[in-house]
Amino acid sequence: MLGRFRNSFRCGMPKCPTIRIPGMEKPESSAAAESAEELEDRDPNNLNQHLQVMWDDVIGEPEGIRSPECAWRLSGHCFRLSRGCCYVLLSVLIAPLLALCLGFTFACLAFQVTAFNWEDPFELESQLTQDEILMRDQFRTYCQEQLLPRVIEANRKEHFDREIMRQMGQLGVLGCTMKGYGAAGVSSVAYGLLAREIENVDSGYRSALSVQSSLAIGAIYMFGSDAQKERFLPKMVSGEKIGCFGLTEPNHGSDIGAMETRAIYDSDKKVYKLNGSKTWITNSPIADVLIVWARCDDGQIRGFIVEREVAGDRLSTPKIEGKFSLRSSITGMILMDNVIVPEENLLNVQGLRNILKKKLMTIKNGVVTRDRVLHSLGYLITENLIKGPFSCLNNARYGIAWGALGAAEACLKIARSYTLERKQFKRPLAANQLVQKKLADMMCDIAIGLQACLRVGRLKDENR
Ligand SMILES: Cc1cc2nc3c(=O)[nH]c(=O)nc-3n(C[C@H](O)[C@H](O)[C@H](O)COP(=O)(O)OP(=O)(O)OC[C@H]3O[C@@H](n4cnc5c(N)ncnc54)[C@H](O)[C@@H]3O)c2cc1C
Repeated sequence: MLGRFRNSFRCGMPKCPTIRIPGMEKPESSAAAESAEELEDRDPNNLNQHLQVMWDDVIGEPEGIRSPECAWRLSGHCFRLSRGCCYVLLSVLIAPLLALCLGFTFACLAFQVTAFNWEDPFELESQLTQDEILMRDQFRTYCQEQLLPRVIEANRKEHFDREIMRQMGQLGVLGCTMKGYGAAGVSSVAYGLLAREIENVDSGYRSALSVQSSLAIGAIYMFGSDAQKERFLPKMVSGEKIGCFGLTEPNHGSDIGAMETRAIYDSDKKVYKLNGSKTWITNSPIADVLIVWARCDDGQIRGFIVEREVAGDRLSTPKIEGKFSLRSSITGMILMDNVIVPEENLLNVQGLRNILKKKLMTIKNGVVTRDRVLHSLGYLITENLIKGPFSCLNNARYGIAWGALGAAEACLKIARSYTLERKQFKRPLAANQLVQKKLADMMCDIAIGLQACLRVGRLKDENR
């Protein structure tokens, strides 16, 4: 490069044959003998000394600076030469700087991709389908914008807003996993996500959603005849009719197998007469359709669809006042005094799940093979013998699990914001390790719980 520069420099040099600078000529030049005075005349600026280089080193064969014009030209060339050197130097400096900047940018991008997201550590979002996300987001907007503002007052006043059930019906949330009957027909995971969203705002309304969807609609969908489904489900899915599920009794909660409510069959009138009481029943004070479990003459527990309109005064459903929790959910009793239930309102199911246990015991005492167990299970399932209220409860519990995590997520977010904002001893509460540990534990438990729920939902959808 320097060579090229030299050549271009030389070519650009004006030829002034009269003046020569001492020391810039070749030794054999005759000008070497010139006096100091003559030198001063010819090199008044003492360029030779200032430059302190042999012209040969810079431009090769010297041809001398012969005039001010020549010096001007020379300085121009020097400027261009130094500018070129600057470019080289700059590029040498800029190249690593550029590399540094690029590296930093890529590092930032990489960091963004792998950044830890405390709100979704296991990237649950990436495991959901587009439909699930769409439905969840739509319901999230409703919960945050419509439900949340009403919930605080509802909690204070123990008030349940029936209109909210209708709105949930319009959004396709009620009985959403069902196929047909106006239901959305979405996956179990989608149902779980909805329960999570609503309980993120309020557990009371999640309770209402669970009872309507999994217990009341679920019981008719699983055990109802086609006629029963056609008659009840569309209005329950739209939220026009509210359902409840009466299993617990004043004397029997956990040990529901000892149920006292009786259903006596009147073969002449082809009706059942129901007597007994249920308590702690969600939605019962406002329910139009009551799924009631009662023991029949043959000792078996069966499910009945009790219609408030038909039952009349023989049915009463007083509200239980003064709950300390789930205050926006309405809870009550079901008191039945010879309530008439037409035969066609009997659900096609009997028993809790004890029969399954007995059958498996029999097999265990005999020759046990995997096929025989599976065969027996298949038989029992086909005959609807192992189903009953517990299978409805299992579905509800699945949704409740998602819901509870939604509530936990809300608690975590609120606690995090509070401890970040609240300052004590001149620093945020969240700066204390003990607070951080609690928040980290919450985050871990929620993340693990959500993965478990997701897995159960996927298995459920695969009928496993
Ligand atoms: C807000 C609310 C809404 C409800 N909604 C409904 C509804 O819609 N439909 C419905 O049918 N029911 C409903 N219930 C009732 C609920 O299902 C019962 O509360 C539950 O089954 C427990 O029954 P219990 O309250 O009689 O408690 P109990 O059965 O008396 O039990 C009391 C405690 O003892 C424990 N316990 C019981 N047996 C054992 C044991 N063998 N070993 C160890 N511990 C034991 C229990 O876990 C519990 O902690 C609701 C309850 C509430 C609070």
